Amino acid sequence: MRDASTPDPRDTLDAVGELAALARIIPRLPESAATLLGPGDDAAVLAAADGRYVVTTDMMIHGPDFRTAWSTMHDLGWKAAATNLSDVAAMGARPTALVVALAAPGSTPVPELEAFADGMRDACAALAPGCGVVGGDLSVSSVLTIAVTAFGDLEGRAPVTRSGAGEGDVIAVSGPLGLAAEGLALLFERGVDATGAPDATAAARLRAEHPEPLSAQLAPRPPIADGTLAARAGATAMLDLSDGLALDARRVARASGVGLDLDGALLAAAGPHALTGGEDHSLMATFPAAVAEQGLPGGFVAIGRVVAAPVDAEGRAVPAVLVDGRAVDERGGWDPFAEWSGQAG
Ligand SMILES: [Mg+2]
Repeated sequence: MRDASTPDPRDTLDAVGELAALARIIPRLPESAATLLGPGDDAAVLAAADGRYVVTTDMMIHGPDFRTAWSTMHDLGWKAAATNLSDVAAMGARPTALVVALAAPGSTPVPELEAFADGMRDACAALAPGCGVVGGDLSVSSVLTIAVTAFGDLEGRAPVTRSGAGEGDVIAVSGPLGLAAEGLALLFERGVDATGAPDATAAARLRAEHPEPLSAQLAPRPPIADGTLAARAGATAMLDLSDGLALDARRVARASGVGLDLDGALLAAAGPHALTGGEDHSLMATFPAAVAEQGLPGGFVAIGRVVAAPVDAEGRAVPAVLVDGRAVDERGGWDPFAEWSGQAG
């Protein structure tokens, strides 16, 4: 791992042991303002003033989800926190607490694990102040594996689901579209050695040259506060964009039984990965037109309009994502063969 230029073999997870390593990691983790009983017992106790809590979990595994040649351990701690905070925010809730389970190779230097904890701390401080880590587990595995569970407070509001988008609502996004995918494309293209393997030196150089897309991919900054702002403003549906706008917008279209008609000129201006690029963790929400007229909350920018679900040749409504009124397939291509007979809205 690239942070440890001269790793000390006496200071690895194997040599130090899990308990001693934990004793060094835990004090670095961010504290949660919702903690009634913190680390030290078998489980933590959290306040849930609302009588409900939002809960979500996400796993990151070396290989399919990240490469240690490209991500520092600080990046990984940051991203593991940020992606989970984003799912809580997407429900319109304020993130309150995280629990983290980490399994790392025994050869991992303990300072790397400390850097991971620092990444979680820095992400919580920057994106969701007051949210912290209230518990977790550390184990040894040949494959670096990170599992984070996040909790959130609805503060008395109804959760914002994917099913509430209504005809005439304005579709808006807070955060970039396709920037993380641009970063990943750069890494696969130029963050590699002569054999095509991920390379730490090449990645570090790339990051200095293209800080925005690389940071969006390796240490994203989802607009967490905009989740509660959207809920307060009356958002009718919301999710975070993890798999690309075309796929994620389709989830809202299906759950709500509507068409989501996106503005092609705005998408084109956002760049080549705007429709298909994953991992931006931007928030997409729908707002009643009256709300949009008064000004969208936070960093939300309008990108389209909710319309009636298009009708197919047999007269069945087919919830779909459209661009300028034309259906888009799940890979984000404008489908030239799609023929919608009744394009309402
Ligand atoms: Mg999500």
